[in-house]
Amino acid sequence: MSQIPTSVITWYKAHGRDLPWRQTADPYHIWLSEVILQQTRVAQGLAYYNKFKEIFPKIENLANASEDQVLEQWQGLGYYSRARNLHLAAKHVWNELKGQFPQNYDGLLKLKGIGDYTASAIASFAYHEDKAVVDGNVIRVVARLFGITSDVRQGKTVQQVKKIVDELLPKGNSYLFNQGMMELGALVCVPKNPKCSQCPVSENCFARRDGQTEEIPFKSKLKEKRIRFLNYLLLKVGDELFMTKRGPGDIWEGLYEPILFEDERAYEDVGDFVQNKTFNLPEKYEYIRFIPAQKHILTHQELWVSICLISLKEKPKGLSGIWIKENETASTPKSIIISKLLSELNSLQLHLNFN
Ligand code: SF4
Repeated sequence: MSQIPTSVITWYKAHGRDLPWRQTADPYHIWLSEVILQQTRVAQGLAYYNKFKEIFPKIENLANASEDQVLEQWQGLGYYSRARNLHLAAKHVWNELKGQFPQNYDGLLKLKGIGDYTASAIASFAYHEDKAVVDGNVIRVVARLFGITSDVRQGKTVQQVKKIVDELLPKGNSYLFNQGMMELGALVCVPKNPKCSQCPVSENCFARRDGQTEEIPFKSKLKEKRIRFLNYLLLKVGDELFMTKRGPGDIWEGLYEPILFEDERAYEDVGDFVQNKTFNLPEKYEYIRFIPAQKHILTHQELWVSICLISLKEKPKGLSGIWIKENETASTPKSIIISKLLSELNSLQLHLNFN
């Protein structure tokens, strides 16, 4: 066990990828990379990281940007709350902390949207603080190395892994060890068919020795959720939006929403909405905006929700629902998902002024 850190660091120095956020000690840039890379593949995240660094090179640029500007650059990454939190935290650092980024784990943890993982990563990579950085890759490597068979979805298993990494941390070089463990999980100790013959710690590995690399880590199955595709059409005429009230016997009873087409699939583009012949839509539109289906998880349902905004000159006839002034939608009862979709439509540079 004592040689594990040295083996991992030596391997990392020889085989680690040359990624731009590894070439900097700037906590702001490291923070950007960590937030962008959450639930994003490196190839996709790289383009966003470079773009953010170019447009908002310093934290003051991000802090002084409008939310629309930040969201505009974030488009396509999903999870817009991450961008909003990033922006809020940048404003806080710039306005309340006099531009001074927190210098350690405890200070970082106080920033909006920064949890244990991100605070540990910034503290380790920017300040070389001896903190264990435990992401999904590290959990897999440690579970296999030490034969941890309990469910990695459980918090106590993650804590067990964290404790082991904490004990392994080579003081002073822990940032290299953390990077190495994450990279080992990303490149060698991959979920299926790990490349044990290329692994620097294979001699120490429980799962390899016992032939259990497919069984470990154990991840309990999530209870199957009902999958639904909700495709919304939002009509806008002048400064009014059309909404309908949901009936009983389903989620969001009594709340308002745009016209819903629940289907067996997510609508992939504007044409899916326009060609829907449920009612007679005028042929001329002033403009159209579309947000492709995003996944939303409820307790027992997985929803794929898309929305299309069509601005018309005249109100179509025969619709059953209400027309609401844009500036009154805030006080119209609606689900969080609809609120989010409306605010995302707002962020598409339309200056629609509703939420
Ligand atoms: Fe993963 Fe194989 Fe290395 Fe064990 S020996 S840590 S299973 S890659």
